[in-house]
Amino acid sequence: MNCEHVAHAASDYIDRKLGLRGRFGVWMHLLACSACKAYVEQVRLAKLALRAVRGTAEPAEPANMDALMASFRAESKKRPSDS
Ligand SMILES: [Zn+2]
Repeated sequence: MNCEHVAHAASDYIDRKLGLRGRFGVWMHLLACSACKAYVEQVRLAKLALRAVRGTAEPAEPANMDALMASFRAESKKRPSDS
């Protein structure tokens, strides 16, 4: 698997549409290639943003939802309370 393969497979990798072998190949490549890792992360964030904007689409995965809720809670704690 090279960078070009990963770029093509990034979307399916994020959506978990790849088979086990494809996922493993991308994963192995991402461990060694920071450029592709950054690229996949960008695509992932773009997809999340797109879903948020649409407000519909597929339901968020529980893991993502937990992470979102955790960061939301952390963010609201940072804000000064008015007491
Ligand atoms: Zn690469």
